[in-house]
Amino acid sequence: MIPVELATLAARLPSRPLTRFAPSPTGYLHLGHVANAAWTWGLARALGGRVLLRLEDHDRGRCRPEYEAALLEDLEWLGLEPDAGTPAELRAGRSAYRQSDAAEAYEAAVARLGRGVFACECSRKDLARTGGDPFNEETRYAGRCRDRRLVPGPGRGLRLRMDPGIERFSDARLGDQVQDPSAQCGDLLLRDRLGQWTYHLAVVVDDLRHGVDLVVRGEDLLDSTGRQIRLGRLLGRASPAVFLHHPLIRKPGGEKLSKSSGDTGIRELREAGVPPDEVLGRAAHLTGLQSEPTPITSRDLAKLFGAG
Ligand SMILES: [Zn+2]
Repeated sequence: MIPVELATLAARLPSRPLTRFAPSPTGYLHLGHVANAAWTWGLARALGGRVLLRLEDHDRGRCRPEYEAALLEDLEWLGLEPDAGTPAELRAGRSAYRQSDAAEAYEAAVARLGRGVFACECSRKDLARTGGDPFNEETRYAGRCRDRRLVPGPGRGLRLRMDPGIERFSDARLGDQVQDPSAQCGDLLLRDRLGQWTYHLAVVVDDLRHGVDLVVRGEDLLDSTGRQIRLGRLLGRASPAVFLHHPLIRKPGGEKLSKSSGDTGIRELREAGVPPDEVLGRAAHLTGLQSEPTPITSRDLAKLFGAG
C-alpha cells in the first residue's frame, strides 16, 4: 500500500529536498504528531532528503517551556533525528528555527508586502456580524477596514488584501486542487490585535527563508494551501513548495484527534511501557502507511514509501 508515487514526487523536487517537522509547543505530542513525523521522515529519507525541526512558538501566550522540553525528548525517544534544528541547538536557546526569534523576518515580510497590507480593528464579534456563511467553519473577512486607512498600532491587527483569483496546485497525494483565497477567507490576517504573528504569515515566511521544498502535513490544512502559496509568491518566492496532505487519525466517531485526547499522548504510551517502534507502527497504520499496526523503527520509515 504505497501511498505516493515516489518517482513522480522526486521529479518535482531538487536532488536533496528539504522538508520540515514543525510542531507548536502548546501541549504534549500525541499520536497525530507521530503520524505526521512518520510521513515526514519517511518521505525525506526515501527521497534522499533532509528534515528540519522548527518550533512554531509564535503564539507566546500558549507555548510553554515544559512542552518544548518534552517534545524534544519524545522525538529523541522515537529515534527521529532532524538534520537541521537539532534538539541540542534548540535547547541552547536562540535558533534560526524558532519562530519566537524571527520577529525581524516577519516585520521585513510585512514591509515587503507594501500597500497590500492594511490595519484592521475588527474584533471576533465584528467578524461574526459582518462575516459570511454562519454554517461555514471559516469566517470570511469581508473587507470592512480595507479602505479606512487606519493607522497601525496597539489594538489593531494587520491584514493582507486578497484579490479574487484562482490558485492551482497539485497535491502530491490528492492531485489537482483549485482554491480562491478571496472567497475562502478574504483578506488574510498577518498579525492579530494583540500583536501576535499569525500562523499563516509565520509558516510562509519560514518555509521561504529556510528553503523548504516539500511540505508534508495533515489534510486539515489543505484549504489553507492556496492562500499560503499566494502569500509566498507576493513575498518573492519563485515557485511554491510541493505540498503533500496526508490522512488524519480519526476517533471512532470520525472526529479528528486533538491534544486533549489524553489516551493517545506519547507520554502516556511511554509510561505504559509501549516501545517507540510500536508507537510509530500504530501511527503509520492509522494514517494509511501500512495495512497493519506492525512495529517499525524510525530507520525503516522510508520502506513504507517503497524505498530500500
Ligand atoms: Zn477590520
